[in-house]
Amino acid sequence: MQMAQPGLYIHIPFCKTKCGYCDFYSVTSLSSIPEYIKAILEEISLYRYDFKCFDTIYIGGGTPSLLSCADLWEILIHARNTFTVAADAEITVEVNPADAHPHFLTSLRRTGVNRLNLGIQSFDENILRFLDRRHTCKQALESIEQARAAGFDNIGLDLIYGIPDQSLLSWKDTLSRALSFEPEHLSCYQLSLEDDTPLGRRHQKGEFALPDEDRQIDFFMTTADILEDAGYLHYEVSSFARDESCKSRHNQKYWRHIPYLGLGPAAHSFSGQRRWWNHRSLKQYLIDLREVRRPVEGSEQLTPSQKRLENCFLGLRTGEGIPMQHFSEQHNTPHPEKRKNLDELVRQGFIVIQDGFLKPTRRGLAVADRLALML
Ligand code: SF4
Repeated sequence: MQMAQPGLYIHIPFCKTKCGYCDFYSVTSLSSIPEYIKAILEEISLYRYDFKCFDTIYIGGGTPSLLSCADLWEILIHARNTFTVAADAEITVEVNPADAHPHFLTSLRRTGVNRLNLGIQSFDENILRFLDRRHTCKQALESIEQARAAGFDNIGLDLIYGIPDQSLLSWKDTLSRALSFEPEHLSCYQLSLEDDTPLGRRHQKGEFALPDEDRQIDFFMTTADILEDAGYLHYEVSSFARDESCKSRHNQKYWRHIPYLGLGPAAHSFSGQRRWWNHRSLKQYLIDLREVRRPVEGSEQLTPSQKRLENCFLGLRTGEGIPMQHFSEQHNTPHPEKRKNLDELVRQGFIVIQDGFLKPTRRGLAVADRLALML
């Protein structure tokens, strides 16, 4: 079955400027890009005997659109020459709207990239400035038009809500502008701030407050209402697809515990039983690859019970939910306290039991991580 094949993630750890909320690993000096391309090709080669085939490739970051199409092409060709890549593979590249020039997008489409993920975040100029985004609202709008003109018929837009002082009206306006392009996919994230980010530090100092939990739930419910009314499938806490075929095949592997190989600094991989992760340092990454060594910083073997617990956490974040059988195995049925919690969650409308699955309702998805802790 298609979903059982592993996915390949390639991290491009460069950004021209850092966004104030961002916790992803990237550096702002672009001078190492040429050496980085060689290193990533080497890292691909180092896994040639561990992974045979992929049916999704996701080039994320950082900012992949800072690379030239020739560089992206070289990476993809090397992946195809090293592994078997399914003929109908989903091949996604993340693009910053500021880089979405017509020539770049047209060339990207010709390299075989068939899915674009645009980091729009908002169509409100003040919010883009607050988030320290590099692009403007005008560039965001143009990037979608240009992506369509370049022939992309599978486009995902990333949006963020829950910005300090953001009104529901402003968020609804962003959603309605996004919907006017009929994107195949929308990822709507709630702003959350790690303490070691610039906005996190300002938040710690009390310079602004984030919306409280009730307000965040309002944003969440409004988002789900508007997008489901527009015909989108709410298939994961933050993810909405125009129809079944538009769900992100790559991201679903993470939620379903399907193996994936992650390349580049800070990338994580999963074999089905073991998880490992690369150094969160471009410098160390380049040293390791120069010495033809895998740049792995650490690994862990998942025990069957850890795996079941993760299945529960991940599954309850998706519309599919988790098989009732997993819940039973997790708690050596019957486990009276957990069963009582489950009955209560069903009674309160957070979970439904349907066709042998425990499925979070929309209310349940709004507090998905908490549900998993109770079960
Ligand atoms: S462009 Fe993306 S990866 Fe780079 S700093 Fe901004 S949010 Fe983070």
